[in-house]
Amino acid sequence: MIVFASFVPHSPIIIPEVGKENLDKLSDTIKGFQSLEHEIYVAKPETIIVVSSHAEQREGSFTINQAPNFNINFKEFGDLLTNISFGNDIGFGYQVKELCEDYFPVMMTAQEKLDYGTGVPLFYLTKHLPTVKIVNIGYSNLSHEDHFKFGQIIRKQINRSGKRVAIVSSGDLSHKLQVDSPAGYSARAQEFDQKIIKLLNDKKIDDIINFDPELLKESGECGYRSLLVLLGIISELNYTPKQLSYQAPFGVGYLVENFEIR
Ligand SMILES: [Zn+2]
Repeated sequence: MIVFASFVPHSPIIIPEVGKENLDKLSDTIKGFQSLEHEIYVAKPETIIVVSSHAEQREGSFTINQAPNFNINFKEFGDLLTNISFGNDIGFGYQVKELCEDYFPVMMTAQEKLDYGTGVPLFYLTKHLPTVKIVNIGYSNLSHEDHFKFGQIIRKQINRSGKRVAIVSSGDLSHKLQVDSPAGYSARAQEFDQKIIKLLNDKKIDDIINFDPELLKESGECGYRSLLVLLGIISELNYTPKQLSYQAPFGVGYLVENFEIR
């Protein structure tokens, strides 16, 4: 049973020990995370699936991280305090791989330290869920349709498992919104962010799957494929998109979106 679904940003700047004086500029995003934290706690998930843009990637294959235990820290960003551990829902990962066999390859990886695309959202969302199990998924260079289909297969396994499962799709929108953006500036970056947000809020899933490839490439996003997997998971559910925040103080689009499942 899917009890929670969200799309969230993952800049390490959102972590207090990393962002420090920059945190003020991200207050809407942090409020968005806090509101999601409340929702996910109430939803009481047994497992959280995180689809991350920065999980290990393999050519022509999705990945599932099968390390038995996971660790989250942000040492490479100067945060020496954060240190969180979780168990992996390993059986879930194997079953998804099996279900995918007729469609596309799924490679098993084994990274105990979770990538920051997974770690930043979990830092906020698991404050009161210390024993929840994690499934850590990486997207691929396969087609948009395959990403959507991958989400549909994951949903099948969620239903078979009988568990209460939360979905966190992790990704940033355009990285080219300002002249001093990390990936350089694009005049079409705003257009990309606004279009994706509107399509999400209008539930126009087909238009998201068939999104203008040129604009997609131009935007320098990292969250689009995470989003496709999420939409594959929830597309047939009765859900209501709720935009909690959108900010881009450093030239990268941060969207916090909840998908209320009824
Ligand atoms: Zn990213």
